[in-house]
Amino acid sequence: MRSVTIFGATGSIGVNTVDLISRDLDSYNVVALTGGRNVALLAEQAVAVKADLAVTAFDDCFDALKEALAGTGVEVAAGSQAIKEAAHRPADWTMSAIVGAAGLVPGMEALKQGKTLALANKESLVTAGPLLLSEAEKHGATILPVDSEHSAIFQALVGEDINAVERIIVTASGGALRDWPVDALHKATLKDACTHPNWDMGQRITIDSATLFNKAMELIETREFFGVRPDQIEAVVHPESLIHALVGFTDGALMAHLGAPDMRHAIGYALHWPERGHVPVARLDLAKVAQLNFRAADPERFPALRLAYEVMEARGLAGATFNAAKEIALDKFIAGEIGFMQMAELVEATLSTLSGEIVTSGPLTLDGVLAADHLARKTAATLNVAR
Ligand code: NAD
Ligand code: MG
Repeated sequence: MRSVTIFGATGSIGVNTVDLISRDLDSYNVVALTGGRNVALLAEQAVAVKADLAVTAFDDCFDALKEALAGTGVEVAAGSQAIKEAAHRPADWTMSAIVGAAGLVPGMEALKQGKTLALANKESLVTAGPLLLSEAEKHGATILPVDSEHSAIFQALVGEDINAVERIIVTASGGALRDWPVDALHKATLKDACTHPNWDMGQRITIDSATLFNKAMELIETREFFGVRPDQIEAVVHPESLIHALVGFTDGALMAHLGAPDMRHAIGYALHWPERGHVPVARLDLAKVAQLNFRAADPERFPALRLAYEVMEARGLAGATFNAAKEIALDKFIAGEIGFMQMAELVEATLSTLSGEIVTSGPLTLDGVLAADHLARKTAATLNVAR
């Protein structure tokens, strides 16, 4: 019996994680589930997997959650402090699937248990990669990547020496607007950016796929998690999203990871690691797939990629600044305040305004990262980018 906790249980990754666990409830004891405003779903999940505790991130959702779980025996809590406390309840395996920078602290806290953290929250690695890895090392905890590309790289590296890696190729679907000319991209609407060709994901990450900010984040994640140099990391557009990443070795061999675009691949791998379990994803019929296409990613139409290399070179607090500015840019785009291409402009303007603050002399600290996040949000909120 393994004890598990899921942060962000009601999101896209969380729902898929609950799906895998609920197929085999005899093997798992669910310690805690956390969610946000979708209290009905959180309560339903908590009952279905017989969780000990359900936590909503928002204080004003406490009463609704309490009512929804009345008489079920599931303990109820609310607020960010309660989420942090949930990370202290002993669990062998913790899924970090809160969206945004809010996922950093619960993940850091869970690492203190010295167990396994399945990391979907890419913002943790982008904002505080070195800190997260050193915290894991300090407590003897294991971090398993759950972003599909990083799970693919991780799997391609099993039994390999990282020093024999020449390059890592991260594939990108190209997002909803991959074939749009740059003039049209300037006019892209929220609706245009919200349909993903291959993956069914949360709204924010779907828009980040259209701008390639998601891919930019993933390049930074790759740099931080696997410790390779920026010049060893490439992004290539692969419209079918069937190859999730490739690792190239010094002998010229390329190891690719293929699978249907279903996050339960990566979640299932992390859940069963170091073994392989049975995961109910569609099996690829290669004769039906027939062909795989690739093309270079265009940094003119997708400036997020160029910014990713700047962040990977600068390191320090550049990742936290980049991520926070991107979150504000996304809020502004969703609110209709800025256009599609202005998201990258705003992030670039924030990075250059704060270039003096990004350099750190000592190792990253959680307080430093949170302060940089705060400052970047404040700066990005006030910077003007012309529409
Ligand atoms: P989502 O928006 O569908 O769900 C986010 C979850 O976080 C929900 O449970 C929500 O209630 C919770 N949440 C939101 N704000 C919160 C806050 N302030 N405090 C605490 N909890 C909060 O997101 P998602 O698509 O499942 O993505 C989750 C994470 O996984 C993100 O970091 C994303 O980049 C990463 N990821 C997602 C996918 C995917 O296929 N969806 C793939 C790779 C990586
Ligand atoms: Mg991904």
